[in-house]
Amino acid sequence: MLYERSAFELAELLRNRKCSAVELLDSVKKRAVELQPSLNAYISFNDNAAKAAEEADRRLAQGGDVPVLCGIPVAVKDNISVKGLRTTCASKMLENYVPPYSASAVELLEAAGAVIIGKTNMDEFAMGSASDTGIFGAVKNPVNTSYSAGGSSGGSAAAVAGGAATLALGSDTGGSVRQPASFCGVAGFCPSYGAVSRYGLIAFASSLDRIGTIGKNIRDVQLLHNIINVTDPRDVTNNHNFFSEHSFHSLKGVRIGIPEELFGDMVSDDVKTAVIGAVKLMESEGAVIHDISLPSLSSAVKAYYVISSAEASSNLARYDGVRYGFRAEGCSSPMEMIRKSRTEGFGDEVKRRILLGTFVLSEGCSDSYYKRAALFRQRLCREFDEIFRSCDAVVSPVYPEAGIKLGKGKRLADIYSADICTVPSSLAGLPAVSIPCGTASDGLPIGLQLIGRRYGDNELLSIAYCYEVAGGVYHG
Ligand code: GLN
Repeated sequence: MLYERSAFELAELLRNRKCSAVELLDSVKKRAVELQPSLNAYISFNDNAAKAAEEADRRLAQGGDVPVLCGIPVAVKDNISVKGLRTTCASKMLENYVPPYSASAVELLEAAGAVIIGKTNMDEFAMGSASDTGIFGAVKNPVNTSYSAGGSSGGSAAAVAGGAATLALGSDTGGSVRQPASFCGVAGFCPSYGAVSRYGLIAFASSLDRIGTIGKNIRDVQLLHNIINVTDPRDVTNNHNFFSEHSFHSLKGVRIGIPEELFGDMVSDDVKTAVIGAVKLMESEGAVIHDISLPSLSSAVKAYYVISSAEASSNLARYDGVRYGFRAEGCSSPMEMIRKSRTEGFGDEVKRRILLGTFVLSEGCSDSYYKRAALFRQRLCREFDEIFRSCDAVVSPVYPEAGIKLGKGKRLADIYSADICTVPSSLAGLPAVSIPCGTASDGLPIGLQLIGRRYGDNELLSIAYCYEVAGGVYHG
């Protein structure tokens, strides 16, 4: 079936006219519609997709230098703006918001002839870990629907894993591309901060937010990343001056750091076994394993939640019911209108982060919370810099558990603490990728995380690719 194939294979078929973009879209869309009741991966489908596929076929028929993703169906997380297509952030606040412009990443995809198939479900404003905090309901894991697809880019990961999209864009602030990719058994890449323009990505925490890519394998996430990895003056933090082109062609001599702190008691036996198995495989391929330590790790989750919530409280101040978004009815004063709009428009998790963020920034508190977290972040960056003097990549689990069971109430503190493996690279702005490395005893996929040096995105993906080809779980 066409929907089962990787983007790399499909690009070849399309170029050789063995299938058309219209046929491919048809196959993937049918699959998406069929899976929608069980997975809930999409919030909306793009009515213009068929037209885009026809246009892609015209370009492919002309031949010549056609971009590699021309005709490939790509799903876009619903916090990334697509002009004319409802972009909700899974929030009542933006339930009817139709952006007047597209994100740079989306413009680049469309210019390359990719077909935007629809907008994917997520946690409200990307805050969460199970894609269950939004107004459209939880996203289910295609491997086992009593489990979450992960979050917050759960819809994007579930769509790719189920064949309901060939590729997908997600956003990653503290792990939201890597963790759902790990849960659903696909690859997820979060590039260095500054690699991909955030223009048109609806802000959660601006110093941490990144647009990442999800695909069936490393080659696929790289194909998609290469299209959107372009300097854009509309995002001042988007800077390509320092990126290195270096890459590895085998694991021979590649220095892999294993942080002891990320293999502790909080990690389940299944996950530990799979990740240690992956490390052994790398070693057998010639990689050199170094035991390393990241002493600051114990405070990483706290710092992440302080910084991300502080930034969220400021970013989300714009939703006042005045200019756009939800506006409460029947208010007698502007203040009441703003208060009611925010009370009714935001869900509990978003309100919690706004309250926490406002508190840590408030007078008398900011020194002991926000400033301390910012200083800690600098220390963590230095620790990583030191590690990357003697290592080419750091390996860890993506998440302490193979999955999250839906509807099983968990303590909030436990949900936040479980971000321990993904938030360190988020705080440090480093590229990180999640690749399948095994299966838990209950059949859920397990992901391996590889973290690379700052601006060494190419190098990191080359190491991940070598691992995948050497015998990691490899799809096409
Ligand atoms: N679980 C993290 C949080 O809730 C990650 C979110 C993200 O990366 N968007 O903040």
